[in-house]
Amino acid sequence: MYSMSRKIKWASIRIFYYLNIAMTILTGGLFIYIMAPYTSYMFFNDLAFWKYLKYYPGLIRQLYRIIAFWIFDPNYRGMYAQPLTSPPSIGPDRNKIKLSAEWQKEENDCGNCINCCIKIKCPLIDHDRNLCLSYNTVYWRYFSCGCYPVSQQQIDYYDCPKWEMEGKRLEKKLDPRYISNADTQKISN
Ligand code: SF4
Ligand code: SF4
Repeated sequence: MYSMSRKIKWASIRIFYYLNIAMTILTGGLFIYIMAPYTSYMFFNDLAFWKYLKYYPGLIRQLYRIIAFWIFDPNYRGMYAQPLTSPPSIGPDRNKIKLSAEWQKEENDCGNCINCCIKIKCPLIDHDRNLCLSYNTVYWRYFSCGCYPVSQQQIDYYDCPKWEMEGKRLEKKLDPRYISNADTQKISN
């Protein structure tokens, strides 16, 4: 398994981020500007913060929006419980999650779908190209985006057409709500 030193490193990165979030909340957003190079590095992989200042108000609004989700939406709150010592991710755990049988594109391609990003009104969507401005950054890898999805609950919440849990297909076959047309014909004959 993972060494203690790596787990300490991953936990430290997350704890420092959460401290920044707490300070940003307490200062009404001001702290994100005080820590501008850090913010820029976390979200855009670039210390040249002046290039990204235009996104900072959106990040502050998003912070309060996520807090509101946590408080008022039990479905959202129940989906996120990331251990501090878990490794950063660049994709879902393929032992548990697989591509949906209906998905026609490559694994690393979401086509034109941005359902999950739109659902939470993420300010890091590039709407012109349907891309993530924060792809593969520290924020992306250490928090919810890199490991998405981790559960069927998340897949359903974001109406994701690409992923499904291992075993879901079998579950569908056994569930009368998912009887295929062929099966329906057999039953009616
Ligand atoms: S993948 Fe990118 S655009 Fe989508 S929610 Fe995550 S950070 Fe935002
Ligand atoms: S909902 Fe699924 S297919 Fe759509 S952008 Fe998110 S991960 Fe990709």
